[in-house]
Amino acid sequence: MINFNSGFNSISVNLKDKIVNSILNEKIFEVGHRSNEFKDIIKKLNSSFREFLNIPKDYHVLFFQGGSSQQFATIKCFGRGAYITTGYWSNKTFKEYAPNGIEVWNDRRVPTADELLIPQDTDFIHYCSNETVSGLQFPEYQKFNKPVIVDCSSDLLTREINWDNVDMAYAHSQKNVGTVGVTVVIIKDSLMQTEKDLENIFSYKTNQKHNSIYNTAPVFNLNVTLLAMQELLDRYTNVKNIEKIYKDFSTKVYNEIDKNPVFYNDIPNRSRSTITFFIDPNYGNFIEQIEKHFEKSMITGFKGHRSIGGYRLSITPTLLNNQTSAAITNAFSIGYSLNDNR
Ligand code: PMP
Repeated sequence: MINFNSGFNSISVNLKDKIVNSILNEKIFEVGHRSNEFKDIIKKLNSSFREFLNIPKDYHVLFFQGGSSQQFATIKCFGRGAYITTGYWSNKTFKEYAPNGIEVWNDRRVPTADELLIPQDTDFIHYCSNETVSGLQFPEYQKFNKPVIVDCSSDLLTREINWDNVDMAYAHSQKNVGTVGVTVVIIKDSLMQTEKDLENIFSYKTNQKHNSIYNTAPVFNLNVTLLAMQELLDRYTNVKNIEKIYKDFSTKVYNEIDKNPVFYNDIPNRSRSTITFFIDPNYGNFIEQIEKHFEKSMITGFKGHRSIGGYRLSITPTLLNNQTSAAITNAFSIGYSLNDNR
């Protein structure tokens, strides 16, 4: 089966083999976080992110454990945020974690810069580049005249980042780079220096000073992330190459959806890495048959998020291949047979 789940996604057989090897032969569970071996893992992780994403020198690459949700909470150390809300995750960031912030946009489409009125008394702008629930993606990293913080949890490593327009990008590991347990924060030094009132365990400055080893680090998880990064580098060399593959792959899938009488997607800013779709109400009686056909086509983990229903294909790097493409084409063929037999 091909797993399209969002988070707890599929990882390649090659990566699984490497993880097993790291446990059995490299004894990764016994590597201490103060050892030189582990320092080397952190060093390589740092350089692999820098190389793949072309990160400028004045940015730090930091590793935390608390998931992207921790970042929702800790970015308030940079002052008062202007929040652009375009879906479930950016809404959650604003509602739950921005006591002092202001919502400058709330719609299911991406605003243009001139549609936004950013109050003078705000210190940074926050948005989510890829809304993992609805499948909406910012087509570009827009320029603003304040520091910009972006939740890239579900599209980091799938597209180029214009670092002129992004001061901090954060993402957890469970979508695109291995398994759960690591959160990467790429932060411009000038923004980091404005940090105020954070406990050491959450602090960007402290993390940077201690090289991501302030307290006991998740050695195993960080090593998995490194192995996943090395796989990405081996396969694609840099993000430009994978971006093109994502573009071509998602265009093919959206073509399947658009030409099919049974399925639709009405998202104004369609994501290349989170593809959502619904069944046309005229075919509501066929849901069970459609889902069975999807499973027969070797597709699993295709159900939409509990808050909106429908269907969702999370395209992680491992899935960018002809086998996945063929399985999707086969799954969507059910639409034509239902239409013909109506
Ligand atoms: N942001 C986005 C875009 C997400 O998709 C998710 C989880 N799927 C989160 C934040 C929350 O991440 P975590 O569970 O690591 O806190």
